[in-house]
Formats: sequence, C-alpha cells, structure tokens
Amino acid sequence: SAMPQLNETHVPALRSWIASAQEPGCDFPLQNLPHAVFRRTGSNESWRGGVAIGDQVLDLAAALASGAFDTAPAEAREALTDAARPALNALMARGPEDWSALRLALSRALREGAAAQARLASALVPQALVEYTVPARIGDYTDFYTSVHHATNIGRLFRPDQPLMPNYKWVPIGYHGRASTIGVSGQAFARPQGQTLPIGATQPAFGPCQRLDYEMELGLYIGAGNAPGEPIPIGLAERHLFGVCLLNDWSARDIQAWEYQPLGPFLSKNFATTVSPWVVTLEALAPFRVPFVRPVEDPQPLPYLDDAEQRRAGAIDVQLEVWLETEASRGAGHGAMRLSRTSYRHAYWTPAQLVAHHSVNGCALQPGDLLGTGTLSGPAPDEAGALIELTRGGREPLALPDGTARTFLLDGDAVILRGWCEAPGAARIGFGECRGRVLPARQHAG
Ligand code: MN
Repeated sequence: SAMPQLNETHVPALRSWIASAQEPGCDFPLQNLPHAVFRRTGSNESWRGGVAIGDQVLDLAAALASGAFDTAPAEAREALTDAARPALNALMARGPEDWSALRLALSRALREGAAAQARLASALVPQALVEYTVPARIGDYTDFYTSVHHATNIGRLFRPDQPLMPNYKWVPIGYHGRASTIGVSGQAFARPQGQTLPIGATQPAFGPCQRLDYEMELGLYIGAGNAPGEPIPIGLAERHLFGVCLLNDWSARDIQAWEYQPLGPFLSKNFATTVSPWVVTLEALAPFRVPFVRPVEDPQPLPYLDDAEQRRAGAIDVQLEVWLETEASRGAGHGAMRLSRTSYRHAYWTPAQLVAHHSVNGCALQPGDLLGTGTLSGPAPDEAGALIELTRGGREPLALPDGTARTFLLDGDAVILRGWCEAPGAARIGFGECRGRVLPARQHAG
C-alpha cells in the first residue's frame, strides 16, 4: 500500500510527558507531531526545524545535540538531521519509510515515561516565544480547483446557463501559481493595484483592488519528486506526498475578472499566498481517511486517476473554518468572527489524483513543491470558502456581529483559517492557524 497505515503512533490513549499536549482541544497532541521551521521571535538565531507538542516546539537541532536519539535507528536519526535544517526539503526528499521511522522515534521519546525526557526537557521552546518561516524552499506552486461546489458557485456568477465547464468532471483543473510571494502565517500585504474593467466601462481603470477576497484551501507538500518524463502512477502517488498545511490564496476578483481569459489567473492571485507554519504529515492523517466517492451519474475517473485504494480511503476528513477579524471587532473586543465551516472530504479530486494528473504528461515534481487544493467550499451555501460565494458576487453583503458588513475585504481585515481532524477511536489533531492581514494599498507614483 502506498497509503500511510495506522500504527502505534496513532493509538488515542498515548500521553506525552508534556502536559499541555493532553489539554482538551489542543491541536498538537502526541498523535500529531507536525513539522515547522522556527526561531525565537526577534532573535538572530538560525532558522531550524521543530516539531509541535502541546504548547511547545521541540527544537530538533537541540534534541539531536542532547543525545536523546543516539540509540534510535539510523534512518530515524538521519531523517531527524534533515528535519532540523532551515528548510524541510531534504526531509521531504527522503520518502515515507524514513518519515515514518522519524515519527515513531519522536513519538516514543515524547511519551509519558520515556527515558529521553530528562535530555529533551531543555530542547523545548514555548510556541508563544517563537516565529516561523515558510517551512520549505517552494520551487513551484500549483493551485487546483477541486471543489465542484466552488466551481459551480463561481461558474453560476459568470455563466448562469452553464455553471460548470464540460471538462470539470474529467480533468483536475489547475494553473501554475507563483512561489515567490508565498508567506507564512502572520503575513501582512498591501492591497494590490492593477487593471480592472469598471461595470459599464469600455476601457480599464488602474488602481487599488476593490474586490479583495480570501480562498480557504489546503496546501499539499510534495515529498520525493519524479524524473522528467516519468509519471507518478496513482497507486504510488501518496508515497510522494509529505504533508498538508492550511493555505489562503488571496484573490483580487476585479483584477481576475478582467485578466483571466484566455490563460487563467495571473496578477489577481500572485501578490500574496499565506500558508500555516505547521505541516501535518500524511501519516498523522491516517485515522481520518474516508472513501473517495464519485456520484454514479457523474463520469468515473479515467484509469490513470482511478485506484481501488483511493476509492476505499482516498479522501481526508479535515474540518475547516474561516474567521474574520476587523478593525471594528478588534476595537470592540469582539475578537474574530466565524464566516464559514466545511470539510475537505467534499473535494471532487483526491491528493493522489492531483499528483498523478500533474505528472502524467512527464512534468517533474520536486521536494517542497506546493499544490493548493483550490477553494474548499462544501455543498451548503454557508460552507463557501470565499467571500465571492458568501455574498453572491458582492451583491448580498454579509452582516457581521461587530455591526459592520462586508462584500469584500477592507484594509485592516485579518483572515484566519483553522483546521482539525476528529474521528471515532482517534485522537483529535489540528493544524494551528493560518493568519494574514490586509494593509492599505501603496501610494502609487503618478
Ligand atoms: Mn485558489
């Protein structure tokens, strides 16, 4: 099987000697162990790899130096060395056997009663005292469009008579994004400027985007890549997936509407993309796999996108939420307000199908490449993952508990994505948060 299997690291009764890992609602119990790259906030320390446990980060360089892993199997120690580096690409390149050996060694060292406790205690840093960076050198970023509900809702705004393009149910639709403006949670960016076509106008105007939106997505990090010309078969695709993060694909809808034909999104999407710092491994998600189901009346996937294992458990049940924090809500002490909630299980294509499709023509994927799932809107209207859907193209403003309303984002707005997994017989695990904030547009010369 190419799919990570349940093993002793998933046992829900496991407890850590770090007490906060057992707090109800904690995103980072012993069964999670996600990776990030961090340093102490405001320090000149080197960026280095860490693993989340409770409200702490296990500093992997310090953990190695402590000698706590001296007796671990060689593949676990070597993977740990790569996991401690300032970018996770070398760890990602190793493949599932080494990722799994590392996870097992970490799980055993952080369990209640572990002999490693005395050595590792000084390798912990409170998460409250650290800052993060993008966890890998992302060579290429591709964004897909895997929610049929999102595609239908958006299509209905532009083409009421034919919301869904005829290719949608056959081809996982995507476009090549831009890696250089991907930032980690906490990213703040200036409202983009660009060309738009005002309603009723025959010529474009230039200026700040007036229809700024978020897109709630997940990001999939590629592990080991493939050689150019050698497709990754669907049955092996999950061996090439390291893990999953939260992703906000900020979108300038007015710029997008003017530019997107005939080659797709360009400047409307590449001014900022925000990812969560923590990468939850595919192995940690094993208890939350659910069948990939294609309605009988829909076309079934072509053979290169079809696989018995995918039909059995190709999808992942990740609960997702979007929250909005506004200037008014901050001032009034309202805090963040939830805009919508859904699950990744509703996606039309699975992560493995995206990998198989992306490489089927011979395209080479590389360790650290990032695949966005596309906006994850669920079947119900209040499960929409973007404002353009929640406000029906900006025509129906959303009334907020802070007394204001939104069609699209205003300066000062912060968007927060959250994700977690729950299932009977499994420990709840979470993704932390993915936060980004809109700043006023830059003053433009001339
Ligand atoms: Mn997107």
